Amino acid sequence: MKIVRFIPKGGNEPVYGVLQSETTAELINGDIRGNYQTTGQTAEIKKLLVPVEPSMICAIGLNFAEHAAEFNLPIPDYPVLFMKAPSAIQNPGDPIEIPTHLASHQVDYEAELVVIIRKECKNATPENALDYVLGYTCGNDVSARDWQKEFGGSQWCRGKSFATFAPLGPCLVTPDEIPNPQNLKLSSTVNGELRQSSTTANHIFSVRDLIVFLSGSTILPAGTAIFTGTPSGAGLARNPQVYLKEGDEVTIEIEGIGKLTNPVVEEVLKC
Ligand code: MG
Repeated sequence: MKIVRFIPKGGNEPVYGVLQSETTAELINGDIRGNYQTTGQTAEIKKLLVPVEPSMICAIGLNFAEHAAEFNLPIPDYPVLFMKAPSAIQNPGDPIEIPTHLASHQVDYEAELVVIIRKECKNATPENALDYVLGYTCGNDVSARDWQKEFGGSQWCRGKSFATFAPLGPCLVTPDEIPNPQNLKLSSTVNGELRQSSTTANHIFSVRDLIVFLSGSTILPAGTAIFTGTPSGAGLARNPQVYLKEGDEVTIEIEGIGKLTNPVVEEVLKC
């Protein structure tokens, strides 16, 4: 199933539904992390929202050999973990804001498969790791490279956590539709121009490996989002480097999930 969270036409409160067409969904009753039923009632989608509001966002750096190679970095022995602020989420279709108050001049895109954890998870095993998956969605690990690399005191969190830097969507695809998350094509385009193109078959650490590693002696609360890493071709690695600017439009597409598109604007300072 492709589950969407949205504001229905004629309503103001978010609801969940199973996607039927680009503009309609069958409403769901209950908790998508536990017991729920479809109602047989169709609603028109007025506004798509992030499919889940994550309790925690774990993100993995350098999970594609081609991406490590373009920075002349060795393939890591263990997954490289950093955190993004859950308050950085952004809905499909809503803008990525280039920071102007704490200004950045190097805002970049990163296409990533995102895994959502269904129930609290600690010390998962290779055998049961995928049982914890609620579903999969597209993510854009938006990154201010200047704050990530030069001004962040060697920590990536600052440059990865600005408001709107974690677009998610357009839907959550349940694991029965993606029994093997390691064979999905993923890409990014900016203004229709292809920038990244790869497949999750090239992950250094698989989704299964990541859940085992991240939950080791660590609690992953229900609703944790895991950004699983990006392939080569981000703006930082291009020659010449090219960063996002107001007026751009970024699309992340993953096979079997769909397209996540966000326009780019500059942060407007309120007096
Ligand atoms: Mg990333």
